[in-house]
Amino acid sequence: MLNFSFYVPTRLVYGEGCVQANDQYFQGFGRRAFVVTGAHSAERSGALDDVVAVLSDKGIAYEQFAGVENNPSLENVETASAAARQFEPDFIVAIGGGSPLDAAKAVAVLAVNDMTAEQLYSKAWPRPPLPILAIPTTAGTGSEVTPYSVLTIPDKETKQGFGGPDLFPKVSFLDWRYTESLPRDITIDTAVDALSHLVEGYLATRASDASDMLAEHGIRLWGRYRQALTRDSLTPAERDGFLAASALGGMTISHTGTTFVHALGYPLTYYHDIPHGQANGLVIGGYLRFTEEAAPDKVENILRWLRMDSLGEFAGMTDQLFPGHKTIDHERLEEYAQKASETRNVANSLGEVTASVMADILKDSVG
Ligand code: NAP
Ligand code: FE
Repeated sequence: MLNFSFYVPTRLVYGEGCVQANDQYFQGFGRRAFVVTGAHSAERSGALDDVVAVLSDKGIAYEQFAGVENNPSLENVETASAAARQFEPDFIVAIGGGSPLDAAKAVAVLAVNDMTAEQLYSKAWPRPPLPILAIPTTAGTGSEVTPYSVLTIPDKETKQGFGGPDLFPKVSFLDWRYTESLPRDITIDTAVDALSHLVEGYLATRASDASDMLAEHGIRLWGRYRQALTRDSLTPAERDGFLAASALGGMTISHTGTTFVHALGYPLTYYHDIPHGQANGLVIGGYLRFTEEAAPDKVENILRWLRMDSLGEFAGMTDQLFPGHKTIDHERLEEYAQKASETRNVANSLGEVTASVMADILKDSVG
């Protein structure tokens, strides 16, 4: 039987100028907005100006928290939430990459619930989170259409996601122009994160006919535009394509979750500061080689949609996108694989995944 169950309760508005053209969607959530951003991206992307113009026009009072760090920690979201509680907002506007968008989801819960950031992982919050409006400025995480938030947990020395169906943003505004100010390296890292979501979602044990449909279209888009990542700059159509692929990746993993690629990527980011998308990108070639045995047809489809002839060509692409990446000693990599083997991502991966399989993939890619 087919499985076309589907749930993404986010109104996605799309296209150049979509914030101004759809300013009515800022209404209906209340009179006070708490704007959650990173240090510079909201301003640099031009998204903040557009949002402030709409809020002012609608007479909505706002306060900005511009302190979200990359890979936000529990402490970072608690600081943001304390500011939010003082301001007493009716809703949240999140502008930025995955870091501000994910932090905003934590703030949406903590602003109205008397709990610590650590308790977010209980997934039980007595009061519903504040509504979130999301505006991505990277084309990668798809957080604008997922119910997930990934935070850094220093006590556990890793990153971990939490989520809940009430954390899907209410409205997301996707305008490729907000990604134009991205430097080349972050454009690449984030695009590869999007690919990672699409590929992992397609190969996840939880994949369904509905999620496959989203993943296929996203992978095809990615394949159509992938050559752009080897050039110095991207055209508007290419940026638009990656933004759509990223959202399709988000919708895919909203249904499927991620696989052991993400579980292996987290320690690379936590201990070695490798950006999230790049961390995934370094292991995804080995993951595909491993998964080919369990799902040859699906891996072949991925290559065809990417307009590639072989897994060797795929590995050549990631080598080209991430030249001179860090190398890490094997003992550490074995520890990371051991830790990753204890995550639920393993059960969501095809094939006989063991700590030793994952250690070998890590050694091949970053060892
Ligand atoms: P990010 O951490 O949000 O941002 C990376 C860097 O890019 C920051 O320095 C940021 O500046 C800058 N930047 C963002 N947009 C820019 C723009 N338009 N112009 C210039 N600079 C810009 O990167 P990300 O890859 O989008 O997000 C990564 C986070 O998302 C990780 O924590 C990851 O675990 C998480 N994630 C979440 C999901 C999910 O489903 N929720 C899925 C995958 C990944 P500022 O510091 O000024 O903002
Ligand atoms: Fe990711």
